[in-house]
Amino acid sequence: MKLGFGLMRLPMLDPENIDIEQVKKMADSFIAAGGTYFDTAYPYHQGKSEIAFREAVVKRYPRESYTVTDKLPMFSIKKAEEMQPIFDEQLRRCGVEYFDYYWLHALGNDTYNLSEQIGAFEFIAQKKAEGKVKHIGFSFHDSAEVLDKILTNHKEIEFVQLQINYLDLDDPNVQARKCYETAVRHGKPVIVMEPVKGGALANVPEKAEDLMKAREPEMSPASWAIRYAASYDNVMMVLSGMSNMEQMNDNLSFMKEFKPLSNDESEMVLECADIIRSSISIKCTACRYCTDGCPKKIPIPDLFKLFNDLKRYGRSQEKKAAEDHAALTKESGKASDCIKCGKCEEHCPQHLPIREYLANIASVMEK
Ligand code: SF4
Ligand code: SF4
Repeated sequence: MKLGFGLMRLPMLDPENIDIEQVKKMADSFIAAGGTYFDTAYPYHQGKSEIAFREAVVKRYPRESYTVTDKLPMFSIKKAEEMQPIFDEQLRRCGVEYFDYYWLHALGNDTYNLSEQIGAFEFIAQKKAEGKVKHIGFSFHDSAEVLDKILTNHKEIEFVQLQINYLDLDDPNVQARKCYETAVRHGKPVIVMEPVKGGALANVPEKAEDLMKAREPEMSPASWAIRYAASYDNVMMVLSGMSNMEQMNDNLSFMKEFKPLSNDESEMVLECADIIRSSISIKCTACRYCTDGCPKKIPIPDLFKLFNDLKRYGRSQEKKAAEDHAALTKESGKASDCIKCGKCEEHCPQHLPIREYLANIASVMEK
């Protein structure tokens, strides 16, 4: 089955504790349907995801009935000496003797340079030679150019994990299509993360949902997003971070006997992407040319993105938008801090009326 169980958004009993009994039931359904691939990482649920995997799967199933991916957190490691203790801790938390897949987590230009400096590629290759890891790779968040550089320099890498969803195919920051093509050119199978864009594509504008329902009345918007990503030939696995039994059952209903989308269906999904894009209120490309000169250190494109998501997905995103807004403005300027100096607008290649937008955002999000 091409569906992987992402263990980053597990069901919770309360903010601290994972609902292990529910995770067990979800894992049972997943394995019964032919699923084998579990994906965890050092920081997921502050380390409790790895432990939940041990309790729900490792202690209850023979080792050959599942595979597990774990990852070396390159965004928090600073020195070479930190790698081995983290790796040992991960094996201990998961309760396994070896990992089937082991990635350098979240490589981009900076974390790639760090990985080179501290020998992280050599470290994971060594773990493979020791039999502690069966396959090595990395998950990736940067441009196709950086991806090409890494894959050119590291032919030993076997897999790449990429962010691919139908809305971000040609997004200038995500560059999903170009990254996928780069992986294909280097002959590396792709594992897809965030096919539903962190849950955002589970709620699409009515017009897009109508198009989807007209084709398949029973299929959820999330199913179209997952099936779209899984339809790429070189995609080995699509991860879904499932949070409850309902999501698990929905995913299994179409991934158990997965059929790639037809050309017609793929075109319909891309039409939905156009509808979603046209519902975006602020046409900011996130180039960030505006932020350097801002005397109030306002994270302008990040606020625009929050606002767009809120407009696009409506009430379902209100709570998340409020939380994200609080986190974003904790250490940087808020929209209402703008003194209307206009420096940002001088640099905006899209000629956006940034001051006007910020005033609107302040009135909506700082209520
Ligand atoms: S107009 Fe506002 S957002 Fe733009 S640079 Fe000045 S203070 Fe920053
Ligand atoms: S310069 Fe304009 S397009 Fe670029 S991030 Fe700022 S607001 Fe967005």
